[in-house]
Amino acid sequence: MCRRVASQQPDKFMDAKKVIITVGRALWEEGLVTSHGGNISCRIAENRILITKTGTKLGFLSEKDLIEVPIPSTKEDFPQASSELIVHSTIYQLTDAQCVVHAHPPFTVTLSLMNMDIEALDTEGKLTYRRCPVIEVNKPHASWELAQSVAEALKNNQIVCVKGHGTFAKGKTLDKALFYTSAVEFSAKLLFNLKVK
Ligand SMILES: [Zn+2]
Repeated sequence: MCRRVASQQPDKFMDAKKVIITVGRALWEEGLVTSHGGNISCRIAENRILITKTGTKLGFLSEKDLIEVPIPSTKEDFPQASSELIVHSTIYQLTDAQCVVHAHPPFTVTLSLMNMDIEALDTEGKLTYRRCPVIEVNKPHASWELAQSVAEALKNNQIVCVKGHGTFAKGKTLDKALFYTSAVEFSAKLLFNLKVK
């Protein structure tokens, strides 16, 4: 594959920005993130990604809320980038991810606190993500330990939940990563309803 840079692909670059903004809105409208929670990234070249900046509201993104960074890179290199940049960067390094969505889906996080992996019982879940393992780390936010654990889990799963924190989903497209996040939360609601009855 030839090495490309964003400036040589203005249309793809602009499209990626628009898709991130659209997916951010969908996550917010579906209640999969809090006002300032979650983050999104997308590969725009072999070793470059677009990622949301720190402190942005995913439901109300504009192009100035996105930053282009190389892979690998860390928050120390790019203080404006999302605090979870190290996790996104490691996922791109260790898996086949083209896009990453990090969300805080309430039912999924609830089940993670109950130490329940989300095994899809519903048809949509079985046909999409099948299983969302729950992982537990000592520092569940913006840590090297978190990055390694999440990326390792995403080698064999489309989505993983960090206990008490939220989900990281990978996809060939952002639409897929959004779908996995939404489908897991739907399954989690069903599992929660079955559990409490
Ligand atoms: Zn988070």
